[in-house]
Amino acid sequence: MEKLKRVVEQAREAFNTGKTRPLAFRMQQLKALKKMVQEKEKEFMMALKADLNKSKYNSFSYEIMIILGEIDLMLEKLPDWASPQDVEKTILTLTDKTYIHCEPLGIVLLIGAWNYPFVLVMQPLIGAIAAGNAVVVKPSEVSEHTAKVFEELLPQYIDKDLYPVVNGGVPETTELLKQRFDHIFYTGNSFVGKIVMEAASKHLTPVTLELGGKSPCYIDEDCDLDVACRRITWGKYMNCGQTCIAPDYILCSQSIQKKVVDTVKETLKEFYGEDAKNSPDYERIVNKRHFKRIMGLLEGQKIAHGGEADESACFIAPTILTDVSPDAQVMQEEIFGPILPIITVKSLEEAIQFINRREKPLALYVFSNNNKVIKKVIAETSSGGVTANDVIMHFSIPCLPFGGVGNSGMGAYHGRHSFETFSHQRSCLIRALKMEAVNCIRYPPNSQKKVDWAKFFVLKRFSMWKFGLVALALLGIVAAVVIKKIQKRHIKCLQFWKSTPLKVAKVEKHWSSGS
Ligand code: NAD
Repeated sequence: MEKLKRVVEQAREAFNTGKTRPLAFRMQQLKALKKMVQEKEKEFMMALKADLNKSKYNSFSYEIMIILGEIDLMLEKLPDWASPQDVEKTILTLTDKTYIHCEPLGIVLLIGAWNYPFVLVMQPLIGAIAAGNAVVVKPSEVSEHTAKVFEELLPQYIDKDLYPVVNGGVPETTELLKQRFDHIFYTGNSFVGKIVMEAASKHLTPVTLELGGKSPCYIDEDCDLDVACRRITWGKYMNCGQTCIAPDYILCSQSIQKKVVDTVKETLKEFYGEDAKNSPDYERIVNKRHFKRIMGLLEGQKIAHGGEADESACFIAPTILTDVSPDAQVMQEEIFGPILPIITVKSLEEAIQFINRREKPLALYVFSNNNKVIKKVIAETSSGGVTANDVIMHFSIPCLPFGGVGNSGMGAYHGRHSFETFSHQRSCLIRALKMEAVNCIRYPPNSQKKVDWAKFFVLKRFSMWKFGLVALALLGIVAAVVIKKIQKRHIKCLQFWKSTPLKVAKVEKHWSSGS
């Protein structure tokens, strides 16, 4: 355990040299990371196959491609995001420079989870490197093959003092959590999330907790059920149900329950064939502990489809449960497996109440042809993210912050949100040592007159936009006065010449020609 302390110290020493501060260094490390992904794609794919039976196509689409996209986005946008961002000034700082400068937080502890073991380490790592931090990387021990590949490959491509990899289980993570970090980024379950937060509080270390929960999926009667069920089947059974934002359960009316079951069954056949066990696209449960936990959730339930299992292969068939009671065990915890319970409700209001009586979920899904229904669900519930008329897809938009709320987590990342999560947004004001007279209203001795002036400057809330408008209006008034004066002069002039008859014709000709 002394070794782990040394690893963190070494990362801090490397950070303190200041080498992560220049933009060029971060860009170079991100390019090296991209090179690793491109050159060692096969090694990672083999590890993902060994950990979760992920096919090479699924590994590419749902792990590798996401990361290549995130690195490219970061390489394109980082020069802009990392440059000082000017902010609006106040009337009292009109001649000064006011901006936000994003600086690195320091040493980040990154604790990954096993269900998307490549993405859940790489995506936050990209953000943390881009923001200029050192990172101690702790992949999940549950996906041990991917963890080993990280340990072997990361030091070959990126700075090994700044970005060390620590492998191990609960004792190692517990020891790491005793060390002082400047940020902890944890992905995993809410129970361990509390352990992480408690450990972080000892050093007042800020945390990002990417947790899980039961993500509901409401299907309105007024909806294209064929399309809805196809999309739900895709999101529910991908990675064998082990996706943090998979629809956990369905809420719908009794009248459409049978049609939902039939359509999901049909889609399953189309996606995975007669027997999902033989499909190269169907993954396995990560280990026996989770296999037993998930099988336990089926006890006493009405199985409308599936239910077959093979413990030796950690295989559980895609399963649908109908008329599930809200009190059933399967409704008390996140399923994180290929079981889809259907709970019937009498109305949209009942569905909303059902959702609101439980912990805030990581994701929420609503299917309806009626925009009012979608808007009502969004307005009257809370969740980390929402997708209407599809599932999972909000995850794929880099401009949307990805994270939970309440029991499903705190903080967010992806794209710019990652860069900001791993940065301290430093407020900068650069003043000149001139115009000292303006400052006298804040120096003692104070007086009513000074307070009145301060009220005028501070409470009037001058915005630059309003200030510009006022300046424009003043300019307009000045221009009008000047034009008026010029016109008056011309009239006087004309009157003078009119009184001199000989010259009148000449003058009139002159004005009418417009010269
Ligand atoms: P896990 O078992 O891999 O644990 C995650 C990490 O926590 C591991 O690195 C492990 O070493 C560490 N850990 C476990 N027990 C610990 C303890 N007692 N003390 C200290 N550290 C400990 O992953 P998991 O928790 O089984 O992951 C599944 C959960 O993660 C689900 O709830 C899922 O919804 C959630 N998840 C969330 C996201 C997200 O982005 N929000 C993504 C994936 C998974």
